[in-house]
Amino acid sequence: MPVSRYMGESNARYYTSRDPLGAAGDFTTAPEISQMFGEMVGLWLTDLWVRAGKPDCAYVELGPGRGTLAKDALRAMASQGLTPQVHLVEGSEALREIQGGTLADAQFHASMDTVPADVPLLVVGNEFLDALPIRQLVNTPQGWRERMVALDGEDFVFSAGPNPMDEVLPQDRRSQPHGTIVETCPAAAALFGDLASRLAQQGGAALLIDYGYLEPRSGETLQAIRHHEKVGVFDAPGDMDLTAHVDFSVLAEIARHKSLSTNAATQGAWLTALGMGARAQALARRSPDHVQALSDAFQRLTAEDEMGELFKVLAVYAPDWPEGAGFG
Ligand code: SAH
Repeated sequence: MPVSRYMGESNARYYTSRDPLGAAGDFTTAPEISQMFGEMVGLWLTDLWVRAGKPDCAYVELGPGRGTLAKDALRAMASQGLTPQVHLVEGSEALREIQGGTLADAQFHASMDTVPADVPLLVVGNEFLDALPIRQLVNTPQGWRERMVALDGEDFVFSAGPNPMDEVLPQDRRSQPHGTIVETCPAAAALFGDLASRLAQQGGAALLIDYGYLEPRSGETLQAIRHHEKVGVFDAPGDMDLTAHVDFSVLAEIARHKSLSTNAATQGAWLTALGMGARAQALARRSPDHVQALSDAFQRLTAEDEMGELFKVLAVYAPDWPEGAGFG
């Protein structure tokens, strides 16, 4: 089977059967590190909404995990008078239950298709796109092929598929050393294309945060995480998180094709420019017991050797909407 099917089936089972987040789970995300993350997202959206003339809006979150980001963002938004309808796009039954406990008035959706079509959308997705199935192409002596997952006895192994795939790659990326892998994420491109069309028609903005790269790049980034450790991608299908870095350059290109404007930055630069340092100090003054924890969280979210550089922020805006803060 193609790598995309292996990743898609493994993650579908993985996410629907558990809460993967936090110390007792497999990985920890930015909103689970500190309330400051969701607050910055909420205030960023509020600032945009104010400058757009305070229209009625819907808050839409893609893959909300435990609902922590939404809870912190909506609290910050409400403090400034923004109280949108709340729509959560979530595939996992187990996580919907937790999100329903955190966010009383949320409505659930299996995809963007059923999200309201008559109001501007304020869309957020943190560590959502990296979980969508990627396709891998590998350069062999016979040309580019789809990378497949095959069985060797009882073991999964990678193998090159039979069909020529050279036409799938732009001309200027075809000539690379044998063994080179190129990843694409058709699922992310399709979803983002729908999202961009919605913004163009309805107004609003989207903020997507994930690990990934801002310029096109070759090389394998598929990895498996279990109990906070990297494990082999065939170790425990369905019981480990499979992720891949997000190619933000493709998403920005799609947005531009739909006449939407975009901004991009590293997570560290963006959070710092928005004033998260001042927020950390304000919280520390209020709870002196938490000074060290707040400083640690600030470091983890912004430092170059932690999440600050690897994680990127892509903002997309409807044509007549203003651009958001924090992008320099
Ligand atoms: N945003 C959260 C959780 C990230 S984990 C946080 O930052 O903590 C990935 C989230 O995306 C989970 O909620 C998972 O159930 C959801 N998800 C993964 N693949 C999905 C898909 N194909 N459709 C809908 N939701 C999906």
